[in-house]
Amino acid sequence: MIHLDETHDPKRRSWVESANQPDTDFPIQNLPIGIFSTDDGHPRVGMAIGDFIFDIGVAHARGWLTGDAAKAAEAAKGGALNELFALGRGPLKELRWQVSTLLDHRRAQREHALAVREGLLHERDKCTMHLPVRVGNYTDFYAGIYHARAAGALLTPENPLPVNYKWVPIGYHGRASSVRASGGIVRRPNGQLPPSNLDEKPEFGPSKRLDFELEMGFYVGAGNALGEPIAIEDAHRHIIGYCLLNDWSARDVQRWEMFPLGPFLSKNFGTMVSPWVVLAEALLPFRVPAMPRDDSDPAPLDYLLDNTDQRHGGIDIALSVGLQTAAMRRENRSAVEILQSNARHLFWTPAQMLTHHTVGGCNLEAGDLLGTGTISGPTPDQLSSMLELTFGGTKPVSLPNGEQRGFLENGDEVVFTAKCHRKGFVSIGFGEVRGRIEG
Ligand code: MN
Repeated sequence: MIHLDETHDPKRRSWVESANQPDTDFPIQNLPIGIFSTDDGHPRVGMAIGDFIFDIGVAHARGWLTGDAAKAAEAAKGGALNELFALGRGPLKELRWQVSTLLDHRRAQREHALAVREGLLHERDKCTMHLPVRVGNYTDFYAGIYHARAAGALLTPENPLPVNYKWVPIGYHGRASSVRASGGIVRRPNGQLPPSNLDEKPEFGPSKRLDFELEMGFYVGAGNALGEPIAIEDAHRHIIGYCLLNDWSARDVQRWEMFPLGPFLSKNFGTMVSPWVVLAEALLPFRVPAMPRDDSDPAPLDYLLDNTDQRHGGIDIALSVGLQTAAMRRENRSAVEILQSNARHLFWTPAQMLTHHTVGGCNLEAGDLLGTGTISGPTPDQLSSMLELTFGGTKPVSLPNGEQRGFLENGDEVVFTAKCHRKGFVSIGFGEVRGRIEG
């Protein structure tokens, strides 16, 4: 499963100088794919390299991509990556390999100036990023066990960790139409808010307990036919790449509506993803074992158990959440980090989630989005939603300018970032997912 090649070589540098800076999210070892537009407004496919976007369509038109990479570029012409993802991991791996070779500093010293002039490179901060796929289906899991325990203690104290938790990867079918790319405004949703006692009627109005959930998302590549489950051994072949995902949540609406069928309006008013898809290939150096189970825990059922997945199915991704209030913006203060976590704290691997999703015969389609569920860690500063971090709003977070937050207020902007580090390898990042609450 882990075959590293020259695209992961820490010694490889790019003639795009900003890609060689140690703090960039997008060194030549990353090359995430996404859909962008310049001021001509025309959405097209590119790969992030340093402070630039490499225009795949232009490279293809110049005849610089061959074989499977050319096939990949051809499939990505429609302004969304579904058709490209449907080809499976092979063509994307080849595309990433060829783009890496084109951007290698050994190729030519004068390439940079030529490339900018010829429209091959676009300055990233002058481009607009779009949702990378047409999301046909969105599923959200509950694979963060520390979140399940912490949120469970607040929402269902009588039974914090569900009895089925260590047997079944719990998930629900989310709403695809309101999935969108990073940036812009999240309107505080109206809904039914729970009465303080059951003799009273519920209030109707804006949520008073608006929250974020720090999650990873991953995209389905080649799908499966209805009735033909994906075996755990094959699951990784169907996962194309990863993003950051903010599952905006209205906790008061959720608490009132969620029994017995689960969250509904409390989660369907907006889900945000970071626009760059970090390819599974780029993450290979950062794979780690699946979360170890306690001796008293049951082993996964056979259909969820694969030795390779147990050895390499986790990913070491350092996660961070920043918050900037309206007052901080007025005072020119940048967002302050309020918590950190890591994707290692997932109880189920992405492969187990994907396999479980199909085991009854459900067909996944190229570009389907699967969320991991909130990824909290074991310590109090790793609780990855306001619900958990502030113990249901009872212990507000103090911000450097003296403000406090239990839940999110209008004007608050939440930003997630993520980075993979490993000794002997070049760190890669995910960019960001950012959204601002308004009333
Ligand atoms: Mn969620």
